Amino acid sequence: MSRNKQVEAAVVAVGEELLSGETTDTNGPWLGRKLAALGAPVVRRWIVGDDAEAIQAALSAALDVAELIIVTGGLGPTRDDLTRPAVADFLGLDLRSDPLIVDDLRERFRARGFPDLPTSNLSQAEVPHGARVLANALGSAPGLLMEHEGRSVALLPGVPREMRGIFEDVLGDVIRDRFEDRLVPLIHRTLYTTGIPESVLGERVDEVRAGLPEEVDLAFLPGLRGVSIRISIRSRADVAAKLLDEAQDVLDSVVAPHRIGMEKSDLVEAVADVLTSESYTLAVAESCTGGLITKRITDLPGSSAYFQGGVIAYADSVKIELLGIEEVTLVENGAVSEVVAAGMARGVADLLNADVGVGITGIAGPGGGTPEKPVGTVWYAVAVQGDVRTSHQVFSGDREAVRERASQATLLLLYQMLAAGP
Ligand code: ATP
Ligand code: MG
Repeated sequence: MSRNKQVEAAVVAVGEELLSGETTDTNGPWLGRKLAALGAPVVRRWIVGDDAEAIQAALSAALDVAELIIVTGGLGPTRDDLTRPAVADFLGLDLRSDPLIVDDLRERFRARGFPDLPTSNLSQAEVPHGARVLANALGSAPGLLMEHEGRSVALLPGVPREMRGIFEDVLGDVIRDRFEDRLVPLIHRTLYTTGIPESVLGERVDEVRAGLPEEVDLAFLPGLRGVSIRISIRSRADVAAKLLDEAQDVLDSVVAPHRIGMEKSDLVEAVADVLTSESYTLAVAESCTGGLITKRITDLPGSSAYFQGGVIAYADSVKIELLGIEEVTLVENGAVSEVVAAGMARGVADLLNADVGVGITGIAGPGGGTPEKPVGTVWYAVAVQGDVRTSHQVFSGDREAVRERASQATLLLLYQMLAAGP
C-alpha cells in the first residue's frame, strides 16, 4: 500500500440477524455505492455475528487489505452489542467514558420522559482512547473513528438511517480530508438498448472494442426491457467526462440503432416525444398484457396530452363488440393471430378516435399453449392513420417475463413506425 496508491476500503457488518437471514444487510451495499462514488472503492466485505472473536478476525483481515475500514452494527446498549470493546481491545486502546456523550445521552432520556439514564446506556458513551467522535443526529450511539498504523477504522451504528446520517453528515467529509487526491471516484454512464439480444450486442461491441479508451470498463446488464451497457471509469470528473464521451462515440458506431431515446432508459419517453412532435393521439387495445402497455404509457406525467385511452380486450366478445373484429375471423384464425392484432389496432383507433392504434394478443402462459402456438407467442400491431404494421415473436420466460417483453417489443414497433414517419 504505497502512499500514492488509490485508497481502498473494506466493510464489516456486525449482527447475528444478518447471518440468520432475519435482516438483509443493506449497510454494506449502501456503503459500497457511496465509497465507490467518493473514490475509495470497497474491495472486501464481511458479515459476522455478535461475537468478539469473529469481529476481531474480520477486522484483522480487513486491515490487511484496506486503508479504510468501516464496521457497522453492535454499538447499542445491550449485552449483545460487542463491537466497541472488541475493536478497542484488538487495536490496544483503552475505553474511557466521554462526559459529553454521557450528558447528551442523559438529555435524550430526559426529553423522552426518563429522568435517569439507564446504566446500560453508559456503554454507549465509552470511547476508545484517541478516537474521534462522529455525531449521530438521529440516534443515541455516536460513530467513532480511529487511526491505527496508517489505517482508518470507523465504527457506525447498525440502524441504517443512523449509519447513513453519520456518513452523510460527517464521515464522508472526514474521508475526503484524510485521503484527498488519493480518492479516485468511480463514474458510470449507461447506454440503454432494446430489441437486440445480449449476445448479439456483445458481438457488435467486440468489433469496435479496440477503439475504446483503455481506461474504461464495460458491463452488459440484461433486463426484461433490454440490455444496458454500463461504461465506467475511475477518474476525476473532468477527465472522466471526456473519456466517457469518447467511449460513447465508439460504441454508438454499432449500438446507436438499438438505443432508443438516447439518454432515456424508458422507450415510453421516446414514444411520447414522437407523438408530441407529430401531434398524434394514441389508443391501445391489449389482450395478453392486460393493461401493462397502458400503464407504462400513463406512468409518464403529461401523457394525457396524447393518450386517448385503452381497451383491455381479454374476452373474444370484447374484441368483437368493442373493437369490431368479425366472429368468423376469430374462429378461423384464433384470437392469437396477425389479423386479430391488426384488427385490434385499427379497431381501437376508430373506437377512441385516435391517430395511432396499438393491438396486442398472445399467450402469456403458463397454460394455453399449443404445438402451433406455444406459450409466449404474441402478435402485435400498430396502425398509424390506417396504415398497419404487424409483427410476432415467441417470448421466453414466465408469465411476467412474457408480458414485460411483449410490451417492450410492441412499444418498439410503435416507436419505429412513428420515427420512420409517414
Ligand atoms: P442500536 O444502538 O440501535 O442498538 P446498533 O449499532 O447496536 O444500534 P444493531 O443492534 O446491530 O445496531 O442493529 C440495530 C438495527 O439495525 C437492527 O434492527 C438491525 O437489524 C439493523 N441493522 C443492523 N445492521 C444492519 C445492516 N448491516 N443492514 C441492515 N440493517 C441492519
Ligand atoms: Mg443493538
